[in-house]
Amino acid sequence: MKRIATKIFAVIALLIATAPVNAQFKISKAVSAAAKSAQALTLTDAQMAAYVKESVDWMDKNNPVPDENNPYTIRLRKLTANLKDADGIPLNFKVYDVIDVNAFACPDGSVRVFSSLMDIMSDEELLGVIGHEIGHVTKRHSKNAFKQQLLTGALKDAVSSTGGVAAQLTESQLGTLGESLINAKYSQKQESEADDSGYDFLVKNGINPWGMVMAFEKLQGMEGGTKASTVEKMFSSHPETAKRIKHMSERATKDGYTRPEAEK
Ligand SMILES: [Zn+2]
Repeated sequence: MKRIATKIFAVIALLIATAPVNAQFKISKAVSAAAKSAQALTLTDAQMAAYVKESVDWMDKNNPVPDENNPYTIRLRKLTANLKDADGIPLNFKVYDVIDVNAFACPDGSVRVFSSLMDIMSDEELLGVIGHEIGHVTKRHSKNAFKQQLLTGALKDAVSSTGGVAAQLTESQLGTLGESLINAKYSQKQESEADDSGYDFLVKNGINPWGMVMAFEKLQGMEGGTKASTVEKMFSSHPETAKRIKHMSERATKDGYTRPEAEK
C-alpha cells in the first residue's frame, strides 16, 4: 500500500510540476485548431493531386491488376488505345480482376474497370460506361466529391493538420479514401451532366454514343440488391434512368448515329 501511495503522490507532484507546460500546450493547441480550419479551407490543387495519387496507388497495389498479357488487359488496352485525355486531363486505364460489377474514374484521369463489368458488357457498352465515368471527371464531380471527403470525412484531422504538404496517411486511411473514390455519391443532376459530358467525350473520340444507352439499359435490367456496386445501384430500376436513356437515345438519333446490333 505504501509504495503505491508514494507512487500516486509522485504522479500528482509530477502533474503539478508540469501544469504550466500543459497550459502552454492547450494554448498552442487552440492556435493549431484555428490553423487547421484555415488550412482546411485552402486545400491546394497540388495537395489534392497528391492525395488522389496516393489513393489510386494504394488501390492499384491492393487490388488484383492482371498483367499485360491477360485477356482483360489486352481488351481494355485495345478499346482505350486512342483515349489519351479528357479535356486535357491525361487518362490511364487498368483492370481490377474482381467480382463487383463496377468501374470508376478518378480526378487525376485514372480509370479503373472491373473484370466482372467487362464480362457482361460488349465493347460499345463498356466504352459507354467508361465515357459516363469520365464525364464525372470532366465535370469535376469526382474532384469535388474527393475534396469534400478530405475536408469533412473521417480523415479531415489527418489531412488538415499538415502544412503545405499532403499528410502521410496510414494504410487504413488510404483504404478509406480509395473507398470514397470508388463509391462517390452523385446527385441525379450530376449523373445527367456526366451522361452529356461522357457523350461528348465518346463522340469527340469517334466512338458511337449508342454504347452508353445500351449499357444503361443492360444495367437497368440487373437486380440491384444490397451488395450492388455504385454503378449497379445508380442504374438498376432507378426512376431517373429511363429519362436518361431517353435523352441519350434522342441525342444519338439527332446526331445521326445508328444503334449497333446487340451482341447475341
Ligand atoms: Zn455516374
